[in-house]
Amino acid sequence: MMAHSEALLVLENFIAGKFVPCSSYIDSYNPSTGDVYCRVPDSGKEEVEAAVKAAKAAFPIWSSKSPLERSQILNKLADLIERDLEAFAQAESKDQGKTIMFARTVDIPRAVYNFRFFASSILHHTTECTEMASVGCVHYTSRAPVGVAGLISPWNLPLYLLTWKIAPAIACGNTVVAKPSEMTSVTAWMMCKLLEKAGVPHGVVNVVFGTGAKAGEALVCHPDVPLISFTGSTLTAQRITEKSAPHCKRLSLELGGKNPAIVFDDADLSQCIPTTLRSSFANQGEICLCTSRIFVQRGIYSEFLKRFVSEAKKWKVGNPSDPTVDVGALISKEHLEKVRSYVKKAQAEGARVLCGEGVDSLALPTGNQKGYFMLPTVIAEVKDESCCMQEEIFGPVTCVVAFDTEDEVIERANGVKYGLAATVWSSNVGRVHRVARRLQSGLVWTNCWLIRDLNLPFGGMKASGIGREGAKDSYEFFTEVKTITIKH
Ligand code: NAD
Repeated sequence: MMAHSEALLVLENFIAGKFVPCSSYIDSYNPSTGDVYCRVPDSGKEEVEAAVKAAKAAFPIWSSKSPLERSQILNKLADLIERDLEAFAQAESKDQGKTIMFARTVDIPRAVYNFRFFASSILHHTTECTEMASVGCVHYTSRAPVGVAGLISPWNLPLYLLTWKIAPAIACGNTVVAKPSEMTSVTAWMMCKLLEKAGVPHGVVNVVFGTGAKAGEALVCHPDVPLISFTGSTLTAQRITEKSAPHCKRLSLELGGKNPAIVFDDADLSQCIPTTLRSSFANQGEICLCTSRIFVQRGIYSEFLKRFVSEAKKWKVGNPSDPTVDVGALISKEHLEKVRSYVKKAQAEGARVLCGEGVDSLALPTGNQKGYFMLPTVIAEVKDESCCMQEEIFGPVTCVVAFDTEDEVIERANGVKYGLAATVWSSNVGRVHRVARRLQSGLVWTNCWLIRDLNLPFGGMKASGIGREGAKDSYEFFTEVKTITIKH
């Protein structure tokens, strides 16, 4: 496994403004070749302790800076990441398996925008004030940063989701200890190299790399970290909730989904089909907001299926660094096997696999034969109670089923434990509003997908999460409010 050790990229933790080696390391794979190409620190309690200490020490100075000073630093950091956009995109694609086009047009631009957005929004918050003239009092609220924020992020949109946490946390005046996914740590490490130049004081942003069980849990259990912002699976969130309970920590949990698309018979299929293909297969289906259950009204079911499958077959799977490729590699061998196993289970239950896994053959370039690739897969006639319709698959697999009435489809769409995102396709405005309001889902897109205004709340219901993030919501999460009464 270590035959190519001389060529390996070796990451170091970033603590108190310095890169610090670790005593042990984890192998990190290039998903498109199956080779180990990077070594990631296997941090534990000791490294987390040092990072929290640095963040605590930096807090008094950083929290006392004006929002404008912090905003200027965030903007500088955004400029520096943007300057290096291509290098970040290449690194993200290699580390995660995503296509270079997706990294170039979605991941890295959004990471840049996260810093710009919170650099701006932090300047515009106001607090509340009320007056009780009869007793000669005014009341007002004041908001202050909480302290050291623990930020834990997943592997699917590595820098995008990490910066979605770092930017608001530090804009509000907190200092942070971040732990990216052990499978995708490279772009976080690259960002650390830019912090000093951007003017981020030492200790304001600390990054410890390592596994969830060791580094993540040490952060969650640390008594000097009063707040944890976590994005990842529902299972891990349950563990984090348990572990942080003795400390009564403030938690923001952005979790998995089993997102429905509802296609009524008056939908504009020329818009719906390409968008639903994207919502099913973009980033290999590894986005928490991806569609994985498509409910199509019976009158257009056959036509939809025919057109959808024929278009899905056109998606090109292959080397992520080829700009003409639409689907890159899945994150790991284990994950690929897990996603494949769902297709097998569906077949065993009598569902029909219309294209992709097990049906079509996948020709890969010579250098990618050992990569973790899978064709976009469409399954029809899956029962609502099947695990394929109930569990998050998180890969390029989508299920298509027919429905008859509005009431029926709402009940079926809501019939899962998750409630993150939904799409509704119809040209009837009244119906679109009615259905959107009745869906148990933190986000509903009608006649579109993934168009976001970062000012508005983002987050899920039910097992998809607790709390919301966005301009005002992140501000409220990353600050502590106090009500002050003045008698005159
Ligand atoms: P995961 O839960 O396995 O890991 C997420 C992060 O938590 C990683 O950094 C991991 O090391 C860490 N972790 C694992 N165990 C931990 C523990 N015991 N204590 C502390 N930290 C721990 O999730 P993943 O497989 O990396 O990501 C995929 C999941 O993330 C999917 O379920 C997906 O839907 C979800 N997700 C949700 C959103 C959202 O905004 N709702 C966005 C992206 C991904």
